[in-house]
Amino acid sequence: MRTPSIRARIALWFGAAMALSLALFAAAGFAFVARSSLASTDESLDEAVDALESALNLEDSEQHPPDAYLARVVEHFRFRDMKVAILDRTTQRVYSSVDTTGQGSADVRAASSGAALARAHVPLEPPDLRQLMLRSPQSDEDLSTVTAGGVDVRVLLRPYRLGRLTLVLGAAHGLRARDRVLHELALAIIAGIPLLLLAAIAGGWLLARENLHPVAAMTERAALIGAATLHERLPVNNPRDELGRLATVFNDLLGRLDQAFEQQRQFMADASHELRTPVTIMSGEAELALSRDDRPSTELRTALANIRHEARRLKRIVDDLFLLARANAGEQLLAPSALYLGDVARECVQAARSLAAAKSVELRYEGNEELPFTGDEGLLRRLLMNLLDNAIKYTPSGGAVELRAASDDGRYVLEVSDTGPGIPPAAQARLFDRFFRAGIDRGEGDGGAGLGLAIARWIADSHGGSITLARSDATGSTFRVVLPMPTDASAERYAPTPA
Ligand code: ADP
Repeated sequence: MRTPSIRARIALWFGAAMALSLALFAAAGFAFVARSSLASTDESLDEAVDALESALNLEDSEQHPPDAYLARVVEHFRFRDMKVAILDRTTQRVYSSVDTTGQGSADVRAASSGAALARAHVPLEPPDLRQLMLRSPQSDEDLSTVTAGGVDVRVLLRPYRLGRLTLVLGAAHGLRARDRVLHELALAIIAGIPLLLLAAIAGGWLLARENLHPVAAMTERAALIGAATLHERLPVNNPRDELGRLATVFNDLLGRLDQAFEQQRQFMADASHELRTPVTIMSGEAELALSRDDRPSTELRTALANIRHEARRLKRIVDDLFLLARANAGEQLLAPSALYLGDVARECVQAARSLAAAKSVELRYEGNEELPFTGDEGLLRRLLMNLLDNAIKYTPSGGAVELRAASDDGRYVLEVSDTGPGIPPAAQARLFDRFFRAGIDRGEGDGGAGLGLAIARWIADSHGGSITLARSDATGSTFRVVLPMPTDASAERYAPTPA
């Protein structure tokens, strides 16, 4: 089954909630009206019987024969929709008033002559009235609703003694008017609720449509955004409401994606550019070597040496690109182990000795601390080798390169200094960017693609540290790597292991 739209669901929920509350409200209102109208009827019955009591006490009953006396008392009671009556339990006669419309006759008769009662609003005929009064309790007041002539009648009966007479005083009130009011109220509710419901559902629908309109606009725009149009943004009507915030978050996401795509594109372009140079040189050397059959073997060897040199450079670039691409993809490349940074640094200086000697650059290591650390030994070695490699590469013959490793203020600091020409201030900010080269005069054996420092920074970052250019001027440059010192708890792991 198809799920209805959010708009339809909101309208239906709204309608259901309205239906429930309207039904509850109508039922409560109806019950309240029914109950309070009955209460006011009961109150008027009570007042009528009180009045009857007072009237009986006004005259001395002993003076008159009860017959005429009781008939005269009820004669004075003329109510609309109400009838009062007195039953003499001894004679079982009922003396009842006539409920009138106000202009009718004031006939008051004994229960035996009921002709005038035909017009009564209280359709409680004398024989029934007598039965009712005779059955009423001898000592307690009795309030009940009886049905007479198809109409409900509320009846209050109260036992009463007057001298030697044992009487029952009664008042009856026809509920026809009340029933009619309740009936009309019920009709109004039954007719009104569906109308209100329809209005509520329509209102909910319009409200939802109005509020969800931006979603439709956003959906339409989002559907058109692709890799080539990542610069497009969703419309934001009101940045403070929920939809506005959603659109803003989505736009931020698009911004980040756009940036990532742009970086990726740039990376691809730079990478292919860097790869093209060695490949072109290699194929040129090979073409030249093969262009004549009688090339001397020395020339062929030189061509092969050049090809090997470019192949090594190519391999280095490909390795660096591969590492950065994997790091970029968020791959877990670190294989940490407990090590001594002092040892790693000393070994790196050893490894770079032949390179320095070939360029007549003095290479020194300074540091006598063990510097226990947990990290990826291969990557840390690569970081230091990149720095040493650069320092030797860019330092002219006769210069000096130094690697210092020490602990300082709760951190490890490793510095590579050289006496090279320094890096131009304009280039310093972008030094650690991929494929960036400062464009200064390079020494021999240069094969850099501008990836060495980018890799060094990634390695330092991924070990919770940092790398900066601490100093660079005409007297040389110093690159500083800062790594976090392990806490005391983890330092136990560095207890020297037997060789
Ligand atoms: P490359 O592989 O080209 O050396 P790097 O990322 O290692 O790439 O270095 C980026 C650029 O920074 C180099 O091209 C060079 O211009 C400059 N550079 C790096 N180290 C030094 C240094 N010790 N002295 C002078 N310039 C340096």
